[in-house]
Parts: sequence; C-alpha cells; structure tokens
Amino acid sequence: MDVILIFEGDTAELLQTRHDQGRVAWPVTRRASIKDVVESLGLPHTEVHSLLVQGQEVGFNHILEPGQEVRVRGPIRPVDLSQPSLLRPGLPSAASPGRDFAPGFLVDENVAKLAMLLRLLGHDAAYDRTWEDSLIAETAQAQGRVVLTRDKALLKRARITHGRLIRSALPRDQLLEVAGLYGLAPLGAPFTRCLRCNTLLEPVDKAAVLHRLEPRTKKYYTEFFRCPGCDRIYWPGSHHGFMAGFLEELKLG
Ligand SMILES: [Zn+2]
Repeated sequence: MDVILIFEGDTAELLQTRHDQGRVAWPVTRRASIKDVVESLGLPHTEVHSLLVQGQEVGFNHILEPGQEVRVRGPIRPVDLSQPSLLRPGLPSAASPGRDFAPGFLVDENVAKLAMLLRLLGHDAAYDRTWEDSLIAETAQAQGRVVLTRDKALLKRARITHGRLIRSALPRDQLLEVAGLYGLAPLGAPFTRCLRCNTLLEPVDKAAVLHRLEPRTKKYYTEFFRCPGCDRIYWPGSHHGFMAGFLEELKLG
C-alpha cells in the first residue's frame, strides 16, 4: 500500500515528480522518514512548515508506513521566526534597535541584491559572495540566520533549519516576497545599517567627518552616521531620496 502525500499551498509547485494537484502516491519500498521522502520529491525541508499524519502533527523524523495520509503544509504568513515548532527551533533575535525581535538573514549569491534591500529596511542581512555552500550552512546554524536563496540543493542541507527558496525573479519582488512571508516592516530605516557591510551605524558629529565631505554636503547637511565596520559615512542626501521613494513604492514605509 502506498503512502498518500498531499502538498498544500505553495509547496506543490516545487514537486519534481508527477502529481495530481499536489497529491502524490509514494510506494513504501524502504524505511524512510518524512523528511527523506519530501526532499526526494523535490522539496527542501525549509519549505515545509507543518506535517500532519492522519491529522496528527509530527516532526521530520516520523517514519512513513503504508496506508498513511500525510499533509505537507507551507507557511502561514506571517511566519513568526521566534517561535519553535515540531520542525525547527525558534530563532534568536538579530541586533535590532527598538525592536524585541528581528530575524537575521543570510543571503546567497544568486539573490545578492536582496541583501542591500533588506539592509535599506534596517534588517540584518549577512552576505559574502566568497562563501561556499558549506560555510553558508555552518554560519546560518551558528548565528541562527534564515537562508535566502534560489538554490534548492543548498536548502536541503541539514544544518540549515530556516530558509526560503525565493520564487520571484526581480529583486524588488523578492523583497516583497520575504517581507510578506516574515511580516517585515522597516526597522530604524533608513540609517540603521551599512549597505556595504551590514554593520549597525552610529551617529557621528559633523565636525569629526567635516574633512571628508564634499562642499555641497558640508553646506546642506547636519546629520551624519558612520559605519564602525568599514568607516563609510551616511547622511540624508540623495541616498535618502532614493530610499523614501523606494519604500513608498513598496508600501512598506
Ligand atoms: Zn560598513
């Protein structure tokens, strides 16, 4: 007798096997956990947000038995990343001025622009294009970060507990996808994080940076921020105009 797996919500679109509206019959030919079977059908475990066997919620290690009916559910938006479930632990908060909880992200090279967009909103988004998959997985686990990528194989790594297979192609749509999934609002935007290196910015006296400013910036601006990580200086100049327009367009600001 087969196991019947029913893939609900946005999980069915990831199946790499023949299915009838998300319904798959899996012949039990070996001892296998739900996680094994779901991933062998094409779905990284990170895309699964709850599993029901005969109506009972179970964890990834549940061993499938002939005749069982399994419901594989995607996310219910917004996902609260601080809360543990049967499938994964809750995440610690990233440094987030003025907030009790804000997730930390780790952005893969194939969605690199997302890192800057998340930082624009004030979110902690680690990104380093030199990182191999194994280092991404290790860092995500060690620092409790959500991996954002378009690479299914990366999200099948066991060390990655939280992640999102980004469906949208354009950076702007990708940001909306992530913001909608995790209920993200701009944090202390626009001057929370360094766009270049992700470090939290600090206010700095104009006098201390005066020698580094262009004449026009010197004349028109009084408020400045400095990145302790890479020493870049920020002020409410052209960058702010871009930011305000961008947020308005996204309806997040
Ligand atoms: Zn910096």
